[in-house]
Amino acid sequence: MSDYKLYIGSHVSMNSPEFYLGSVKEALSYGANTFMFYTGAPQNSYRKPLSELKIQEGRKVLQEAGLDESKLIVHAPYIINGANKTREDLFDLSIKLIGSEIVRTAGFGCKILVLHPGAHVSQGYDAGIDNLAECLDIIFKKDNTDVKIALETMAGKGTEIGITFEQIRAIIDKCHYPERLGVCLDTCHISDAGYDIHDVDGILKEFDRVIGLDKLLVVHINDSKNPRGAHKDRHENIGYGYIGFETLSKFIHHPLLNGIPKILETPYINEKPPYKQEIEMLKDGKFIEGWKENF
Ligand code: FE
Ligand code: FE
Ligand code: ZN
Repeated sequence: MSDYKLYIGSHVSMNSPEFYLGSVKEALSYGANTFMFYTGAPQNSYRKPLSELKIQEGRKVLQEAGLDESKLIVHAPYIINGANKTREDLFDLSIKLIGSEIVRTAGFGCKILVLHPGAHVSQGYDAGIDNLAECLDIIFKKDNTDVKIALETMAGKGTEIGITFEQIRAIIDKCHYPERLGVCLDTCHISDAGYDIHDVDGILKEFDRVIGLDKLLVVHINDSKNPRGAHKDRHENIGYGYIGFETLSKFIHHPLLNGIPKILETPYINEKPPYKQEIEMLKDGKFIEGWKENF
């Protein structure tokens, strides 16, 4: 336990005028030693050139603070759907967008890009998995960065793929560049997908059996507004949902998850970020009764 290295942080924003410098300052203000960000708005593909994002300023501050850049996470815009080939033009757009996000990730000095596997729309899981593997092959073939893509486990909303460890494993197996792929495990999503989230040891054992824990690059720590198997994907604040503090704290401190960055994506409370409070409780492993009501 003594050499357990905990990397914990949250999603942070990146806004004008400080951009990446502001993201880094925001993370540090939460007492975080890692963080996750989007290189532009999550819901669209408009991206400002890297030269305008105060990257050098941000990197200087994070290095002075002793943060390890290899533990930082970039999240790809969630409009991307590399699993859908019902329209060739949209498939090509996904290839273009993911390809450019990888290059942007490297431009921040980061190594891990989280990607939603996408939705098969009407083609079925097998076709969706084949489509995404093809999409990733095209991207990796011409990419020369060392950024890894972490495929996120999904809740199973609509026709989302990547809702079981087997589906994630199938994507990795089908792709010709498996060394470029890893996984992002989201606690809310796997509970929504039907896994028994309270059996943390069992889940990690199953993950290791099906995919291999060496592939686990990041864990998203979220409580859930809905019970197991709901397929809704609605995050809740730590200790206020169906997962609960004790289970989330187990993920934070689990010896098998030593050194793997843990990122919170819980909702704002009265338009204010809850992360400083949530990170503090999770670090201590001690829940403060009524913290949200008193926030
Ligand atoms: Fe995500
Ligand atoms: Fe997530
Ligand atoms: Zn989610």
